[in-house]
Amino acid sequence: MKNIALEKEVDTAGMAAERRKFIARYRAARKKAETLGKLAKEEKAVALLSSSVRNHDGTVFVQQGGSYAMDDPENFLDIATALEDYNMIVRLLRDGQPVKIELDVASKFYTDEKQGYNVVAEIPGTDPELKEEVVMLGGHLDSWQGATGATDNAAGSAVMMEAVRILKKLKVQPKRTIRIALWSGEEQGIHGSRGYVSKTFADRTDMQLKPAHEKFDVYFNLDNGTGRIRGVYLQENEAAYDIMAQWLSPFKELGATTLTISNTGGTDHLSFDAVGLPGFQFIQDEVEYSSRTHHSNMDSYDHLVEEDLKQAATVIAGMVYQAAMSEEKVPRKPLPDPQPARSF
Ligand SMILES: [Zn+2]
Repeated sequence: MKNIALEKEVDTAGMAAERRKFIARYRAARKKAETLGKLAKEEKAVALLSSSVRNHDGTVFVQQGGSYAMDDPENFLDIATALEDYNMIVRLLRDGQPVKIELDVASKFYTDEKQGYNVVAEIPGTDPELKEEVVMLGGHLDSWQGATGATDNAAGSAVMMEAVRILKKLKVQPKRTIRIALWSGEEQGIHGSRGYVSKTFADRTDMQLKPAHEKFDVYFNLDNGTGRIRGVYLQENEAAYDIMAQWLSPFKELGATTLTISNTGGTDHLSFDAVGLPGFQFIQDEVEYSSRTHHSNMDSYDHLVEEDLKQAATVIAGMVYQAAMSEEKVPRKPLPDPQPARSF
């Protein structure tokens, strides 16, 4: 176990703090945009132009999406602009020059299909005693509107499918059932995984456990871009340290050596964690996730690193297989009290 570093090689606490800051910034920006939209509407404006200090050199972060809820009011037209363009308009206006802008925006809010869909598949377990128990892996399949969503989260979805392909190709006969789930509605508040967990295992609002809760083992999630896997966030589950260290140890040469007790948020493992089931997100190299691709117009195929994705699929296939063959299930944290429904 000594070859597994605890928060040494990667500053996971720092990374988790960065993610929390990102979510706080996102919420604050959302609130500001709502207020501005209201003001603009009162002033009979036709649109807002927004920018941020990150929107430069061709990268535009597109966070202007409105509410997804059918009965919420329509979002006021808010256009993400490059900082260079935005600043030019500001300079002209400061100089007293009139600015004329031509807009051509076509968008549509689809209301004909309200149902979200997860994609679920499994390799059935073979041990008569253990095949009802389930090891899960997954990531979200939906993406953000700024680009095609290559790093958020086609990368995670592709890696998870590749991990399953590897196991199928090897014709493994897992003792426990291995189940992959590609979630929908993550971007609107982890709705796909939350719906699945509450229908299958337990609803966090009442914590009435369904029979499958007892049979569940562990869920592994991938959703932090193209970067290679460096380890696992233990989500404050200290009891899981030894078993995870053992499963991670074969991947030292691939650079996956870190277990941190820290938790990390913002994605689908939280749905499992919220009902007392072991759900973990992997620690990944940042690459250019926050600075370039996450929810921006640059989240395209070109920003994926093939070797990193292969490394991730290899590590995950190994982790999942070991979990499916292990003598014991992953130890759990104490069951949480019922919590009110809310998004992450
Ligand atoms: Zn994501």
